[in-house]
Amino acid sequence: MEKFNTDGVVIKTSVTGESDLIVFVLTRNRGIIRAFAKGARGTKNKLHGGSSVFAYCDFSFSEKNGVYHVTEAVVKDLFFELRSDLAKMSLAQYFCEVLLKSLQEGEVEPEYLLLMLRALYNMSKNKKPVLQIKAVFELRVSSLLGYAPPIHACAQCGAFRTDRMFFNCLTGDVFCENCGNPNELPVVAFSVIAAMRHIVFSEFDQVFAFQLNPELLAPLTRLTERYLQNCLQQRLHLLDFFWAAMN
Ligand SMILES: [Zn+2]
Repeated sequence: MEKFNTDGVVIKTSVTGESDLIVFVLTRNRGIIRAFAKGARGTKNKLHGGSSVFAYCDFSFSEKNGVYHVTEAVVKDLFFELRSDLAKMSLAQYFCEVLLKSLQEGEVEPEYLLLMLRALYNMSKNKKPVLQIKAVFELRVSSLLGYAPPIHACAQCGAFRTDRMFFNCLTGDVFCENCGNPNELPVVAFSVIAAMRHIVFSEFDQVFAFQLNPELLAPLTRLTERYLQNCLQQRLHLLDFFWAAMN
């Protein structure tokens, strides 16, 4: 039997047995771990608080023959404020679903956990607009998955900037005013492309730190949403709840 400790955030739970849960924990260095939390549905059980979705904990796990158990969960943050806002709640659940669908077993890039934690924190504490958090998460995850869009310059002529530009949500290519075809691709303000460049190319610590005209946040995240959807090759239905709650 192996025992180890890691921090992580619960991204899914399912009920098993009379009082147990199966928790899916996005960990820092071991990807997503699926583990039994014995007795965790009991409100007095020591694993109860740390076995809820979005709980960020210091976990202790034991593993035997590929089966994991949570032996301890010391709660660091529950992001409780999310639960009173339907749009934020739907968005956080969508983030969980994206990670569950896209991460391979054994995927160990720590930035997934850091990105998720920063997104949950910024949402629960109102640090950034919700649409901005969504755009950052979607585009940065696309990049982590190996689909960083080639948006440094116009794919045809190499121009860095024109006032209006075009973004291809299928390929991730960007085109300048002269090369893009408005009948084929959505036209976007240059500042939207600049924001996308920031998300893709900045150091992680800076990834949420950009300013964009609030009216352009929805166009930005419509693009990042479609781009991630194409990377994952599926549309996640939680998006419908999110957009309904936003309207
Ligand atoms: Zn061009």
